[in-house]
Amino acid sequence: MARVIVIANQKGGVGKTTTAVNLAASLAVMEKKTLLIDCDPQANAGSGLSIYPEKVSENLYSVLYEPERAAQAVVGTELPCLKVLPSGPDLVAADIELVDKPRREYYLRAVVEQLADAYDYVLLDCPPSLGIVTLNALCAATEMLVPLQCEYYALEGVAQLLRTYDQVRKRLNNRLALLGVVLTMYDGRNKLNRHVKREVWKCFPKLYFQTLIPRNIRLSEAPSYGKPVLTHDIKSRGAEAYLSLAQEVVRRQPVGA
Ligand code: ATP
Ligand code: MG
Repeated sequence: MARVIVIANQKGGVGKTTTAVNLAASLAVMEKKTLLIDCDPQANAGSGLSIYPEKVSENLYSVLYEPERAAQAVVGTELPCLKVLPSGPDLVAADIELVDKPRREYYLRAVVEQLADAYDYVLLDCPPSLGIVTLNALCAATEMLVPLQCEYYALEGVAQLLRTYDQVRKRLNNRLALLGVVLTMYDGRNKLNRHVKREVWKCFPKLYFQTLIPRNIRLSEAPSYGKPVLTHDIKSRGAEAYLSLAQEVVRRQPVGA
């Protein structure tokens, strides 16, 4: 059975996609069969792995209403163990179309169910919202991973996300467990970053990951080469950090499972 991990935070620009791409690549390098599903119409997870919306004929949206065709939309990457189900701008329509459909929260789950058996890990990269596509991702997953940027309002944002998590668990998906909170773009020289780190560790003693993802130029430039940081610059601090996070993820039992 694959572990299906949704990477969610309704706040924009906190490192969801960077974490999705580089955690997926790190798991693949550890020879875990990994599928990254891009659930964001911005399609940055795909393009970060050289998969561009205009160059693929099928994507998540084109199979969303026909889950039995899901495998046709999966594409390979330069890493043999890493596959991607790409997104595209047309996915925006799903947020509107799904509104009045019965069981509107479970379309993505049907897609994941078609594919999951062939993988050890399925990662879902979410858009920065709590719209229907994000709810679908929360309903398709068995674990939730929250990337958090160490800034002033970070904890308020997490509190809201955890309320959503509780509601989803109660009403829509009681299999969803909390995998953890990972701090991104961390700079130990920055006093606020250190303060937020202490707060997060205090508030979530069972949930935080020991690995801190540093602010690292190689991580931010890798997508412009269409590569995960591991193949862009394996010696970088960013590559080292995501490999270490992947090891923690593999070892960890989620809370509330
Ligand atoms: P969105 O909410 O728009 O989907 P996101 O949460 O997916 O954003 P990313 O796209 O991963 O966030 O990151 C936002 C920006 O910060 C990007 O330009 C990315 O390259 C950069 N970035 C992310 N993590 C790091 C890091 N550890 N070091 C340096 N830059 C980073
Ligand atoms: Mg993103």
